[in-house]
Amino acid sequence: MSKAKAVDYATLRKRLEKARLKGTASETADRARNLLLVYLDHAQAQNIPIQELARQIQQGLPALRIGGADLAAVAEKPDGPFGDIACASGCAFCCILAGEDGGVITEAEARNVHAALSQLPKGPDGRAWHPRACPSLDPETRMCRIYDARPMICRSYISKDATACEAISTGIPADGAGVVGAQSIYLAVHALGRAALKGIATVPTFSLSAVAAAALDGIDEAEALQGAKHKPRTLDDESARLS
Ligand code: SF4
Ligand code: SF4
Repeated sequence: MSKAKAVDYATLRKRLEKARLKGTASETADRARNLLLVYLDHAQAQNIPIQELARQIQQGLPALRIGGADLAAVAEKPDGPFGDIACASGCAFCCILAGEDGGVITEAEARNVHAALSQLPKGPDGRAWHPRACPSLDPETRMCRIYDARPMICRSYISKDATACEAISTGIPADGAGVVGAQSIYLAVHALGRAALKGIATVPTFSLSAVAAAALDGIDEAEALQGAKHKPRTLDDESARLS
């Protein structure tokens, strides 16, 4: 991954305030911007060197922390969307990654997925169950083999009806299943971080499916991430689609 060029907190803050996300709803972008500005303020108050903060943004750590906190808050609400979900162990239509992007994840998540799969015995591959399934899935039990390392896209997807998930996995739209709003915030924070660091550092995203497949093939982390890197517009498109 490329190293960040010199920047300072005041410049980064101004860039973030001016950053615009084409296609992402202004309400989502503004909330994500405010949360990322708070993250910047906190980092500065903690005397985090700006180069380290830029590196955190490259890796997607602010997106993960902010989106993760949002997800945890929603999950705790008794009357929230997690209150009556149909999700159960061994139910895995949501692990069929039917989109062309293979599941959008950050660098930190891609490294976690690769590391977790690299520690497991080779063999089970979700694609033995379904050709578009995530390779991290156990095709027999249909349980995630890297549950603790699963990325935000997996954590934020819930459903009231597994048949809706099955329909969606075949490309048929259905109500009642999808990611909660925390995923939109996570994507928008990452996209804003990229916009703020434009010309200073690259902020990539990766295909979950491609990273997992490479890890199962024994490909080392650097090569796996290089091969799984998305084109820049993938993040913008996904942020716009979900906002
Ligand atoms: S999101 Fe859908 S497919 Fe996934 S566990 Fe929940 S009900 Fe099952
Ligand atoms: S990482 Fe785990 S939860 Fe996520 S899509 Fe793959 S198998 Fe499913």
